[in-house]
Amino acid sequence: MTFENTLAFAQQQDKNDPLAHYKAQFHHPVIDGKQVLYFTGNSLGLQPKTAKEYINQELEDWAQWGVEGHFHAKNPWVSYHEILTPASAKLVGANESEVVCMNSLTTNLHLLFVSFYKPTAKRFKIISEAKMFPSDRYLLETQVRHHGLNPDDAIIEISPRDGEYLIREEDIIAAVNDNADELALLFFGGVNYFTGQLFDMEKLTKAAHNVGALAGFDLAHAVGNVPMKLHDWDVDFAAWCTYKYLNSSAGNVGGIFVNDRHGNNTEINRFGGWWGHNKERRFLMENSFEPMTGAEGWQISNAPVMGMAILKSSLDIFDEAGIENLRAKSLKLTAYLEFIFNDIVDQFADISLEIITPNEPTRRGCQLSIKLVGTNKDFFQALTKAGVIADFREPDVIRLAPTPLYNSFEDVYLLGQTLKSLAKNWR
Ligand SMILES: *Cc1c(COP(=O)(O)O)cnc(C)c1O
Repeated sequence: MTFENTLAFAQQQDKNDPLAHYKAQFHHPVIDGKQVLYFTGNSLGLQPKTAKEYINQELEDWAQWGVEGHFHAKNPWVSYHEILTPASAKLVGANESEVVCMNSLTTNLHLLFVSFYKPTAKRFKIISEAKMFPSDRYLLETQVRHHGLNPDDAIIEISPRDGEYLIREEDIIAAVNDNADELALLFFGGVNYFTGQLFDMEKLTKAAHNVGALAGFDLAHAVGNVPMKLHDWDVDFAAWCTYKYLNSSAGNVGGIFVNDRHGNNTEINRFGGWWGHNKERRFLMENSFEPMTGAEGWQISNAPVMGMAILKSSLDIFDEAGIENLRAKSLKLTAYLEFIFNDIVDQFADISLEIITPNEPTRRGCQLSIKLVGTNKDFFQALTKAGVIADFREPDVIRLAPTPLYNSFEDVYLLGQTLKSLAKNWR
């Protein structure tokens, strides 16, 4: 489709957008008396207006029932996590038995590594992306050391080629094949947090399986952003946080996927707790741990209901809107941002800005990462001051994430106008 860099065009797109009404279902921050343009749903999603209601329900049930709320609350707390499962499973393309919400992202990855990174003298290597999100890198380093191994020997990082920003999938697969006999695990972000590159998880999983290794993914930047089919792709395990695209509030509960192939095997070793124990016998307080089948068998503690209530308010919106519909809008919205950006980028005299995210829509989610050359954080700060909430990632990248749930084409147009006025003054 052909885009135009005009307000009228953007507003017409919003008029034609069947998902446009969701924007009003979120609180949009007002900073210094001015409603900002929010492009940071990839870092912390906005608050659904219904979140308060959902929490109030639990506060009222707690006030009325006390401990009896476990069984008598409108949404009984003893099984509260279960009401998050159907929508979560749809977002990642899983059977409901393969998904559960619990703990938080890095914690969950550690727990999943207990079960799915079991290095032997021969097979001990992990293939991963260079410049991972630091928490994931620390996960890998400390897991490897926990097994008495040296990270330099055990972790293979795949980098972009010289002069490139993106990782070529052929290079990942070549590394998998080069380490065929020694590879224990392929572990990648589904969408790279820095560049916004979306990986072909099915292809990477197949490559790992072909050499007898497992494949796991961190979906922090993928869930709620791109549709997935983890079950059909035969992914072994995955984990995600819910405060980014899933709008559940800072630090809230995460989610995991364990392929039924593994979930049905209660012999797989794991770190246990009572919430992962056989549901029928959970309250008999017996000694011997008997894990439930499915992802729920990896739970440890009872569910944090207040946080989960917020997540439920957001998942209900996702369920109604549909991730495929959101993706259809997202493809268009991000393409519009790319168009607007390219339309004005030549107006910067002394600095250059370059999109490093793939230009093929199938290789990215909604985020565009923009590399600054000839300037630094000042530019980002000027953008913030002008009322655009984006984020800056060291050393030189601004990330902009127009989310299809609460960003409009007009937002993108206005962002372009802001950039244009910065360009005029940038010396
Ligand atoms: C946001 C993010 C995290 C954050 O981890 P927490 O355990 O939720 O603090 C980890 N990894 C990636 C790739 C992320 O994008």
